[in-house]
Amino acid sequence: MKAARWHAAKDIRVEKAPIPTPTDDQVKIEVKFTGICGSDLHEYTHGPQLIPTKKPYPLNGHMGVTTLGHEFAGVVVGTGKNVTHVKKGDRVVVEPIFRNPESPFITTGEYNLSEPLGFVGLTANGAFAKYVVVEDYMVHRMPDKMTFEQGAIVEPAAVAAYAIQQSGMELGDTIFIAGAGPIGLLTVQVAVASGASQIFVSDVSESRLEKAKEVGATHIFDARDKDIPQRIRKMTGHGVDVFIDAAGVQASFDTGISSLRNGGTAILVALFAKSVQHNALDHTLRELTIKGTAAYRNIFPEVMALINSGRLPVEKLITSVIALDEIVEKGFEALTKDPSEVKILVDLDR
Ligand SMILES: [Zn+2]
Repeated sequence: MKAARWHAAKDIRVEKAPIPTPTDDQVKIEVKFTGICGSDLHEYTHGPQLIPTKKPYPLNGHMGVTTLGHEFAGVVVGTGKNVTHVKKGDRVVVEPIFRNPESPFITTGEYNLSEPLGFVGLTANGAFAKYVVVEDYMVHRMPDKMTFEQGAIVEPAAVAAYAIQQSGMELGDTIFIAGAGPIGLLTVQVAVASGASQIFVSDVSESRLEKAKEVGATHIFDARDKDIPQRIRKMTGHGVDVFIDAAGVQASFDTGISSLRNGGTAILVALFAKSVQHNALDHTLRELTIKGTAAYRNIFPEVMALINSGRLPVEKLITSVIALDEIVEKGFEALTKDPSEVKILVDLDR
C-alpha cells in the first residue's frame, strides 16, 4: 500500500509500505479520511518532536521512519482474537492515545496521564495510508448518521471539548479564546454548544478571524492589539469567566490572563514552544485557576453524540480534501503558507 511516511523534517515521502497485520489485541482499519493536525505539521517543519528516532517507544518498540496520521475514521477489516467490542464492517473513529497498562493512571481512569505519552501516527504507524492497525481500546463505533469526514475531526474536537469541560464553563459564561487555528475554532464551536453568552477570539490572521465569526465568535480581535483586556472588561463588566490559550505564546498568555475576571479559569491547551513568564502574585491575589489539559480522556462518546446531533458542525472547518499523493504540496506546504486553510482532510479512496 502507499503511505505518507516521515523520514526527517521537510522529508515526508508518499511511498510503498507493508500492509500491517493486527496482533491479538489490535484492530485493522481501512482508512476513509484522515485530517492533518498541527502536531503533524510540527513534525514536518521542525521534527522530530514526538516521533522516536533515538530509542524505541517502549510500549510497542516503534522507532524511526513513521507513517503519520492520527485524526481518522474508517471501517474495521480485521480483528485480533481477543477483540470483542468491534467487528468487521463496523464504522469507527480512533482515539489515538496510547495507554501504559502498568501506569497508576490507568486504574484512576486518567489514562491520558499515563507515561510515556504516545499516539498512533507518531509513536506507531498512522493513518495516512489505506490500512492501519490500532490497539483495541482505541476504537469507538461511530453513530450511524455521522459521516467519515466528520469522524476524522472527532479527535481534535475532543481536544476542544475536554478543554471546555476542564474549564468548568457554565451556561451563560463568557470566554476568551486566543488562537483561531483548528483547535481554537473547534473550541468556539464547543463553547457555542455549551451555552457561552459571549465568545471573544483573537488571532493574527484575518481569514481565521472571519472563520471564527462564521462558527460563532461574538467578538474578534487582532491579537496584536494592546487594548484587548480593556475592551473585554468593558463588554463583560469584570472580565471573562474562562480563558483558553490555543495560541501558546507569551503575548496570548498575558492577554488572556489580563482578560480574566478575578476568580476566573485559564486553560492551557496549546503546545507552548517556549517557557512563559508568569506573575504568581497576581495569580494568588486574583484567585485565578491556571490549568493544563493533555489531549483528552473519557470524552469521545459525548463528542460523537454532539456531532451526530448537528449541534457541533465540525465539518464547517474542512477547507480542502486532497489525495494522499498531494499531501506534501497541497497538505503540509499549504498549511504552512496559507492561513485561510483550516482543516485539510486526506481522502484515502482518491
Ligand atoms: Zn492532532
